[in-house]
Amino acid sequence: DPRLEGIASAIRVVPNFPKPGIMFKDITTLLLDPNAFKNTIDLFVERYSGKGIDAVAGVEARGFIFGPPIALAIGAKFIPLRKPRKLPGEVISEKYILEYGSDCLEMHIGAVQPGEHALVVDDLVATGGTLCAAINLLERAGAQVVECACVIELPELKGRQKLNGKPLYVLIESH
Ligand code: 5GP
Repeated sequence: DPRLEGIASAIRVVPNFPKPGIMFKDITTLLLDPNAFKNTIDLFVERYSGKGIDAVAGVEARGFIFGPPIALAIGAKFIPLRKPRKLPGEVISEKYILEYGSDCLEMHIGAVQPGEHALVVDDLVATGGTLCAAINLLERAGAQVVECACVIELPELKGRQKLNGKPLYVLIESH
């Protein structure tokens, strides 16, 4: 798709952030380019419109940028998957392992109903640990995760293999 080149070139790479040796993919520059940002959302909307998706679950924080416009356009609800102790209601939690230490995602009980079809959205998949935790939360609540969608994949980190067989759709592979 000819739109992908403009999206890829709007993503800034920041060396040594947040620590030495990391080449951070910065999507804030994509947000500054209205054409590239719109094309990003449109590509997801074209893929998921009319597919019977009931819920778009976005991962804090950058899944909160891409998830809601997709949800609105396809007529789905938006579910925020948040870091610990942010959600005021009753939650279920899922811990996951990071390179150093661990982290946790939480979802409100009742956000999704058993049998509903859900799409998980985040900006980037690296090791896949975050998406795996998101999938587990939704499945524990009885939802059916139809796919995970990210703007960027770092394929060398093989995160795709951590998703318990769930399909992963990405716009850009970054090597
Ligand atoms: P994973 O759990 O797949 O190892 O890491 C993915 C999570 O870390 C995502 O929530 C993503 O936002 C964040 N992340 C890791 N590296 C980067 C990066 O280079 N750029 C951005 N924008 N997010 C990153």
